[in-house]
Amino acid sequence: RDPVLEIRGLRVDYGLGDAAVHAVRDVDLTLHRGEVLGLAGESGSGKSTLAYGLTRLLPPPGVISGGEVVYHPVDGPPVDVLSLSPARLRAFRWADTSIVFQGAMNSLNPVHRISTQLLDVIKAHEPRSAAAARLARARDLLRLVGISADRLESYPHQLSGGMRQRVMIAMALALEPQVVIMDEPTTALDVVMQRQILGQLAELRQRLGFAVLFITHDLSLLVEFSDRIAIMYGGRIVEEAPAADLYRRALHPYTDGLLHSFPALRGARRELTGIPGSPPDLRAMPTGCAFHPRCPRAFTPCDTDVPPLGRPADAPGRDVACWLHPVAEPVPR
Ligand code: ATP
Ligand code: SF4
Ligand code: MG
Repeated sequence: RDPVLEIRGLRVDYGLGDAAVHAVRDVDLTLHRGEVLGLAGESGSGKSTLAYGLTRLLPPPGVISGGEVVYHPVDGPPVDVLSLSPARLRAFRWADTSIVFQGAMNSLNPVHRISTQLLDVIKAHEPRSAAAARLARARDLLRLVGISADRLESYPHQLSGGMRQRVMIAMALALEPQVVIMDEPTTALDVVMQRQILGQLAELRQRLGFAVLFITHDLSLLVEFSDRIAIMYGGRIVEEAPAADLYRRALHPYTDGLLHSFPALRGARRELTGIPGSPPDLRAMPTGCAFHPRCPRAFTPCDTDVPPLGRPADAPGRDVACWLHPVAEPVPR
């Protein structure tokens, strides 16, 4: 399949030298054109840091300390995102890859009408377009996310949380990007609303063809709405697979724990078990497999050797980093 965004060996630290916290460690991840890729992991696993790193929106003291991010436009040569000039980077952020931040629905400016905020995004990138054309575009965008165009004149507080979130999605889609990154856009919303929004996004990408990187704690949502799922633990990707395969059979014990800490999608409700123990301290990472202190299946090499992420011999088409599934072929760098 055709990659649209390739992340290779990405490392992101907070701070420098001995004080650095390694929040993203050698992450390889490929987003294909038009797919929904879900990224899940417990709080602190590095999901947001990965998203901010690849769009170069890291707040200080965040620094990218290694790796590559390559964006493939529909036509034209590949773009090395980490070396873009500030001007090119601004264009890249809305026109090629747009991002809806964690808690974004609260980032609408309360004193401006929805129309002003939506039109500002369009105007910033199409300064020479006619005002009437921009307004028509703003109306279309609202309708696209299921909000009637007469809401344009509303203020954010006049909209429900779900509507505000959909306004943010409309803004993210305004310049028809190839990649939309959503960082936990739904945690503050109720479950019904979460499903509606992610479902709508999956449908929109079918019409518009963009790819989605969707970041959440809620693995059950991802199982339902994404094509592939990547699982992050302690700054690394520990498993990656087509959503249905992952749900049917998790290879990594951590993925298994995550799946069982959510109620089943269908059938009898299971107990919410959670995973015993707590996520690793990034300043004092366990040796070997970072999950070994919590892993019910840990064995001899686990506390000394870091398992590489790769294609296991016993499950073709998937990637896992666990000694239970020895890797026949490491993920190509
Ligand atoms: P959540 O699900 O809670 O959003 P996350 O997976 O997005 O978590 P990140 O926010 O990327 O996790 O954080 C990854 C790690 O980086 C965490 O251990 C966090 O403590 C650390 N971190 C984040 N921001 C900073 C900072 N400004 N300075 C130092 N460490 C930071
Ligand atoms: Fe558990 Fe070992 Fe696999 Fe880590 S490598 S997840 S400790 S079995
Ligand atoms: Mg986060």
